[in-house]
Amino acid sequence: EKALAEAATDPAARVEALRREIEHNSYLYYALDAPVLSDAAFDSLMRELRELEAAHPELIDPTSPTQRVGGYVGEQFAPVRHARRMYSLDNAMDLGELDAWMERVVEDFGHFPPMDCELKIDGSSIALTYEDGVLVRAATRGDGTTGEDVTANMRTVKDVPLRLRPEALGAIADRTAPLELRGEVYLSKASFERLNLAAEANGKAPFANPRNAAAGSLRQKDPKITQGRELSTFMYAIAEDGALSVPGQYQLLEWLREAGFHVNPDVELCESAEAVRAFCERALERREQLPYEIDGVVVKVNAFAQQEALGFTARAPRWAIAFKFPPEEKTTLLRDITVQV
Ligand code: NAD
Repeated sequence: EKALAEAATDPAARVEALRREIEHNSYLYYALDAPVLSDAAFDSLMRELRELEAAHPELIDPTSPTQRVGGYVGEQFAPVRHARRMYSLDNAMDLGELDAWMERVVEDFGHFPPMDCELKIDGSSIALTYEDGVLVRAATRGDGTTGEDVTANMRTVKDVPLRLRPEALGAIADRTAPLELRGEVYLSKASFERLNLAAEANGKAPFANPRNAAAGSLRQKDPKITQGRELSTFMYAIAEDGALSVPGQYQLLEWLREAGFHVNPDVELCESAEAVRAFCERALERREQLPYEIDGVVVKVNAFAQQEALGFTARAPRWAIAFKFPPEEKTTLLRDITVQV
């Protein structure tokens, strides 16, 4: 009671309470793949914390969840230190916030730089490393700096090439150097439903959503269990731009396709803010029909040179934004609870 009353009037106490609540729920979500809060409820805690920290800069702390990539490094897998950090994305909660971000970018460059629009796949981040064209390692995002070695499990995912197609090798600057490619590992809506029906039949708790189910399936001790889970990937990124002779994101996607990866076909190189907005609106309309879950659109400044000029914050690139869809209205097992402090 006293803590609650204090937190309502004392920003420092409220910030502390929010951080504790966010950290606890991040653990349930990332480590146990079993959230109790809906994403919308979690996001509103994050938003409140961000707003409080902006209003009271003296309360900003490098260990705050707002300054970090949310994630977890489990002990059942060997840790993998990422050669280049894996980031999260900043969010635009509506078209107004998306416009504000695009305006800031236009101000920086003095003109609208071409932007690549992609669907935001609701899965789990994955990094695949190839040496001499051969898959040598797969790692989760973890806390962004260190991930978990899930190579044996990812080898069972059918659309992951164990070797890159020879046609694509010419674009690699140094073939003997590790080439790290990144994307999303996900479960289709159909596979997610099958998995949860089987869980129910075996008296086990169902997964809250396809994203947690994908993360849980990927982080199995026994690769045979992962193999039975029907995971898929969409690849969309490279750890180090200079490792390939491609000038930007859209061209990278073409190369990934050529190299043998599964790449999402819904992508557009947009030359104007109107085109970006139209892509977002179309994606929202088509969301239901897609065989996999998406929770938004990722808009990326296309040219790698321009990305480099914009750089990163502590947790996300400045050259990209996730336009988040409103949460889907559906019955879930999640409780929308308000934070108790
Ligand atoms: P995020 O999922 O909002 O965005 C970043 C991720 O998007 C990237 O790491 C990447 O894996 C993914 N992505 C998908 N498609 C992409 C594409 N085409 N290009 C680039 N990236 C793409 O951020 P996050 O930090 O991974 O997680 C935050 C999310 O997790 C929020 O939605 C939050 O609600 C949820 N969460 C919920 C709880 C809970 O208790 N319910 C707890 C923690 C986090």
